[in-house]
Formats: sequence, structure tokens, C-alpha cells
Amino acid sequence: MSIMEAKLKSILLFGQPGVGKGTQGTIVGRVPGFCHLATGDMFRGLDRDSELGREFLKYSTQGLLVPDELTCRLWRQYVQGLIDTNKYLPGSDALLLDGIPRSPAQAKTLDDHIEVLAIVHLVCADEEELIQRMKRRADIQNRPDDADETVIRRRFEVFHSETAAVLDHYDPKLIHTVTATGSPGKILLNILNAVIPSMEGHFGNPLG
Ligand code: AMP
Repeated sequence: MSIMEAKLKSILLFGQPGVGKGTQGTIVGRVPGFCHLATGDMFRGLDRDSELGREFLKYSTQGLLVPDELTCRLWRQYVQGLIDTNKYLPGSDALLLDGIPRSPAQAKTLDDHIEVLAIVHLVCADEEELIQRMKRRADIQNRPDDADETVIRRRFEVFHSETAAVLDHYDPKLIHTVTATGSPGKILLNILNAVIPSMEGHFGNPLG
């Protein structure tokens, strides 16, 4: 199937850097019926010596977004690759998008490709706590964009100036605000409580 043929039923994981989108997205992505796609992972998977890989590092090491056109082009290719290799089955899986769209322009481009069933907005009011979390994961995940506090702070600025407005693009009824502090199990429960009802009637139930 080509991604140009039908709109992919999707759930957006949205929130500030460090709020836990990747952690929760990885867990939910293990549940049958979900396919987790994190654009940060997509970019980090590029060969660092390739032209695209160098282009990514040029922006990410400064805490900036990769330009919209390049991001959306790569995203389309990547999703098509997941479909072609049966890692993502559009008829039975919800595409769990983590880290995209990150600008109103990306949201507009994605309108041609996805039908948004729900948006999970993970929130944590305490930016200092998020910064500490990001510094810790920098070592574990080998992420240069999280090692330097100046870069982390730039990522927050970019979130407020470029990404936050993405929510205005969607019907407020789709948006579920989930507190991102406290036990990971409870956060997971709240995410599933928000998204499972939104998926009902949209997919067959092959497991009965
Ligand atoms: P993340 O792992 O989601 O924090 O993403 C790491 C870096 O990848 C970001 O700081 C950006 O440079 C880049 N990136 C990830 N997703 C996007 C996106 N949707 N648009 C532009 N840049 C992105």
C-alpha cells in the first residue's frame, strides 16, 4: 500500500522535550495495535556521515528543528518503509506519532496523510525537573543535544515559539492532557485511558 492512498489513523504524542514521550511511546508501541514512530529516533538512525545525517546534526546539536520540508519528506519515506516491510499495518495499527508535527507547517503537511484520532498532551509545569531528566538521559542515550544546558534551554524556547502552536491546528475535543509527573505506570494508564476509546470502531479486532 502507498501512503498516498489512504489517511493513516494516528495518535499524536505531544509535549515539551524531556516530558517522557519517548519512554511512554516505546511502551505503548509494544501493545498490539500500535506502531510507535519517533522522529527523533528516525533522525538519529541516519548515517552521521551521510548528507542527511550531517544536515540533521547541524540543527539538532544547536537545539533547533530540522527544516519542515526535509522532515516531512523523510517522514513519508520512513512510513512507507515501515508499511513495505510489514512493521506497520495501517489496517490494524494506530500510528503513534512521537515528535511530529513540531510546527504548524508540519501539521498542515501531515493533514494529507493522517487522520488524527487523539492527541495526548503530556505536561510538566516544572521545566527545571525536565532539564535534570534530560541531562541524565544524555549520558545513557548518547544524545549530544541533551548534554549541554544551553542547547536544552534552546530546545525549550523552540518548543514555545514554534511547536506549542501545533495544538491550535486541531479540534480541542481531540486533545487529552496527561500529567507527566509521578509513577510511569500511572502515566501509562492515563495515556491508555485517553487513547483506547478514541480507537474504537476504527480498526478490526483480530485478537478477539
Ligand atoms: P527528539 O528526540 O524528539 O527530542 O528529537 C531530537 C531532534 O531531532 C530535535 O531537537 C530536532 O532537531 C530533530 N527533530 C525531531 N523531530 C523533528 C520534527 N518533527 N521536526 C523538526 N526536527 C525534528
